[in-house]
Amino acid sequence: MSAAFRLDGRRALVTGANTGIGQAIAVGLAEAGAHVVAAGRRSCAETVERIDAAGGTAEELILDLADLPAARAGLPPDIDILVNNAGIIRREESVDFSEADWDAVMDVNLKAVFQLSQAFARDVFARQGAGRIVNIASLLSFQGGIRVPSYTASKHGVAGLTKILANEWATRGINVNAVAPGYIATNNTQALREDADRNKAILDRIPAGRWGDPADIAGAVSFLCMPASAYVTGAILNVDGGWLAR
Ligand code: NAP
Repeated sequence: MSAAFRLDGRRALVTGANTGIGQAIAVGLAEAGAHVVAAGRRSCAETVERIDAAGGTAEELILDLADLPAARAGLPPDIDILVNNAGIIRREESVDFSEADWDAVMDVNLKAVFQLSQAFARDVFARQGAGRIVNIASLLSFQGGIRVPSYTASKHGVAGLTKILANEWATRGINVNAVAPGYIATNNTQALREDADRNKAILDRIPAGRWGDPADIAGAVSFLCMPASAYVTGAILNVDGGWLAR
C-alpha cells in the first residue's frame, strides 16, 4: 500500500475504545500502522489483545470523560491523531427530560470533545507538530430525532465544533473532520435491533438494506487520518448506507 494510505510511525488515541465503534476504529488505525492508545473509562484490554493478535501495537489508558479535569490531565503527549469517539445517549420525552440527563450527555459528547481537542492542539502546537482530529458525529448532527434532546443538541454541536476548529487550525497543522455514522450494530443500538417493528422500519429506510458494521466507520476514520486526506478539513463524512441521501 502506498505511504499515502498508511499510518506507520503515528500515535493515535481513541476514546471509548473498549467496545463498539471505538474498538473497531482502534483496530483499523493499528492495521494501517499506527500505534494505538486505546482509552476507556474501563479496561480496553480486549482491544489491545485484538491489535496485538493482528500484529499491531497498542496500549490501554483509563480516561473517564465524566471527570474532565482528570481526563485532560491524563491525555498523553506526542499524540498525532485524536479520535473523539466516546458518547452516551439518554432517552425521554423532551417535556420530561431531566437536567441531569442533559448535563451528562452534553459533558461527554460535546464538552469533552472540545476539551480534549484543545489539550491535544496545545501539545501539537508546542512541539510544532502536525495532527489529525476525527470526531464521531451522528445522523442527529443533521436530523432532529425524537426523545433524545441532549444527544441531538450535542451531535449538532460536534458538527459545529468540527468546522470552527478546522477553520482555526487549518494553517497550524491540524486537520479536523468528523464521521457521521448511520445505524451501526453496537451496544448503543441493541434495543432498536431487538425491537422487530423498529428494526424493520429502519432497515426499510436504509438504501444499503443493512445495519452498518463498526468496521464501516473505522475505514472512513482511518482515511481521514492518512496523508491521502491532507486537503480534507472541516468535513463531515456520512457513513450511513445512504440514509441521508434518501
Ligand atoms: P457504545 O457501544 O455504547 O460505546 C460508547 C463508548 O463510549 C464506550 O466505550 C463507552 O464506555 C464510552 N463512554 C461512555 N461514557 C464515557 C465516559 N464518561 N468516559 C469515557 N468513555 C465513555 O456505542 P457506539 O455505538 O460504539 O458509539 C460510539 C460513538 O458513535 C458515540 O459517540 C455514538 O454517539 C456514535 N454513534 C453511534 C451510532 C450507532 O448506530 N451505534 C450512530 C451514530 C453515532 P463504556 O463501555 O464503559 O460505557
